[in-house]
Amino acid sequence: MIYSNNPRPQSIQSLVDAKPVPFWLDDPARPTPEPGLTKDLRSDLLVIGAGYTGLWTALLAKEQNPTRDVVLLETGEVATGASGRNGGFVDASITHGFLNGLSRWPREVAILEKIGEANLDAIENTIKGLGIECDYRRVGEIDIATEPYLLDEFKEITELAEPYDVRFRLIDREQLYEIVKSPIFLGGIKRPGSSLVNPAQLAWGLRKACLERGVQLYEKTPVTKLEEENDLVIAHTPHGRIRANRVALGTNAFPPLLKRISYYIVPVYDYAIMTEPLTSSQRDSIGWHGREGLSDGNRQFHYFRTTADGRILWGGYDAIYHWDNGFGPHLEQRPASFARLAEHFFQAFPQLEGLRFTHTWGGAIDTCSRFSPFWGTAHHGKTAYSMGYTGLGVGASRFGALVMLDLLGGRQTERTKLEFVKTKPLPFPPEPLRSVGIKLSQWSMRQADENQGHENFWLKVMDWVGLGFDS
Ligand SMILES: Cc1cc2nc3c(=O)[nH]c(=O)nc-3n(C[C@H](O)[C@H](O)[C@H](O)COP(=O)(O)OP(=O)(O)OC[C@H]3O[C@@H](n4cnc5c(N)ncnc54)[C@H](O)[C@@H]3O)c2cc1C
Repeated sequence: MIYSNNPRPQSIQSLVDAKPVPFWLDDPARPTPEPGLTKDLRSDLLVIGAGYTGLWTALLAKEQNPTRDVVLLETGEVATGASGRNGGFVDASITHGFLNGLSRWPREVAILEKIGEANLDAIENTIKGLGIECDYRRVGEIDIATEPYLLDEFKEITELAEPYDVRFRLIDREQLYEIVKSPIFLGGIKRPGSSLVNPAQLAWGLRKACLERGVQLYEKTPVTKLEEENDLVIAHTPHGRIRANRVALGTNAFPPLLKRISYYIVPVYDYAIMTEPLTSSQRDSIGWHGREGLSDGNRQFHYFRTTADGRILWGGYDAIYHWDNGFGPHLEQRPASFARLAEHFFQAFPQLEGLRFTHTWGGAIDTCSRFSPFWGTAHHGKTAYSMGYTGLGVGASRFGALVMLDLLGGRQTERTKLEFVKTKPLPFPPEPLRSVGIKLSQWSMRQADENQGHENFWLKVMDWVGLGFDS
């Protein structure tokens, strides 16, 4: 079934009481922010941005060398960027899925899959070891077909993955109905290894671990400029400067501090809505007691999951790019996208008609043309960056942090030898070509969804030159 894009009045009505804030941040466990920086400082390692990338970098730097002097600066509060507003799917893949890895790094994909699984194990061990309460569960993720041709695609992926020892499991319509009841779900493919987490609570747990290990955290402290001065990099903030030996950038889709990054990244806004907690009879009507992470397999896809207190998060589908890398809090609410999401939700779960939504929000995704992270250095190797996760960075950000530490330490490791790490995505063209190209790609993806997955000439050319678009 193709989702209808015309929201009915009752779908719009279901949103009227929703708070315009990310559900995960509307939590009494949200920590009081640390004071901002008001003096000049000297540090060995300065980390900029306190989402997962920055938090993992600071924490792993301390693990590698507990006496190392680490400062972490954050323009807002920990997790107020994408890390506190995502779907909480912790994918084992660091390449934005096995297929993307296979098509771009065919000779490395087997090792990249193994690294991804080890990375997920390490995240799980950290959560357990530090006792982080973040509703972490290794329940696996199921991609769902709402059109018969997707079942054929799933079969093909399973066969392609087999020689690489990547475990996918096909699920037929009856088996899927046992897991989750929807009249439009035709079958699925399960990646058993993946996990789900409460994303903000994970970030806050990492924040606590950083503070306990002596990381100096300053929130409400934007870095406005970086400049090189002999052997140091100077970071300017409104009320103090930091002179650092090494700088790690984890600023994701935010306006970058290095101009070169803006060629590789486009901020694309993704939106989500959260229901009120379901009653037990509503829950019984849909099943889903295993609380698996779900998404549909279309090019314009939804992701959906349950929460510890029995709600459903429903997000995705629209991916909105604004002219000239438009960015800011004014873009985080989009009533047209929320109405469409609510309509699609009730098409998937008509038995929940009458359920209300309590939260609506959006956030920017650091989209790059290879859909997976990339790295680089500046200031003669004294600054490093890790970004480009393209909507799949909850797990991959830990690997990204390790690569940055390798690069800043000048170390040749198993990681830095990978083509995946050494290469960069193709840059996006400047405006107006950037907007035109993205709009054309989005239109073509919608067409492909409506035409049994058949890609038009534009998508084929984009695939062929390696200049993709995804959210
Ligand atoms: C709606 C949505 C849903 C998503 N769902 C998923 C999902 O289910 N699974 C998944 O794997 N990924 C998902 N993602 C992507 C995932 O959230 C990101 O890849 C991940 O959080 C990236 O972490 P980060 O630390 O690099 O970025 P962020 O969390 O965005 O952190 C960057 C931080 O840098 C700070 N900063 C920026 N500039 C400066 C500056 N100049 N000075 C100081 N601080 C600065 C920002 O304030 C911010 O806190 C989703 C993203 C969105 C928006």
